Amino acid sequence: MTIYRRFRGEHFLDVNEDGKEKCVSCFLCAAACPADAIYIEGAEDARSYEERHSMDHRYAKIYQIDYGRCILCGFCVDACPTDAINHGHNFEWAVYTPGEMVKDKEYLLANKWREPDVTPNENQRHLAAKQKMGKLNIILK
Ligand code: SF4
Ligand code: SF4
Repeated sequence: MTIYRRFRGEHFLDVNEDGKEKCVSCFLCAAACPADAIYIEGAEDARSYEERHSMDHRYAKIYQIDYGRCILCGFCVDACPTDAINHGHNFEWAVYTPGEMVKDKEYLLANKWREPDVTPNENQRHLAAKQKMGKLNIILK
């Protein structure tokens, strides 16, 4: 299936070139969300940059988006100061229970590697290897 590049589908949480999570748990996306669809719990990681998972000491211990509420407006993406939250292109969300509509941080991080035009660099390869869902079967135009 061919999809426009500008299509706003299910989000992904991004990592930087070093493979560190970009989210600094500032809550701006949650504050901007008109549907109250984002839930975050922040935490501090005092370890050095090399050791920790995130690019900042502050990171999201829990990050969830409820796609039962999300209207794909993009306000969260616009509000994010670190470009951590982005729209991907997945739109297949058929599930059996409302609880399955809530996607957690691990899922949203893995979503990046499903995008057809995303290739991990050497530092990101171990993250992409954890992704078990396979590439989206779409072509972007
Ligand atoms: S796209 Fe809009 S409704 Fe969905 S999580 Fe972001 S701000 Fe909320
Ligand atoms: S995704 Fe962006 S706006 Fe939301 S908490 Fe993380 S850094 Fe802040």
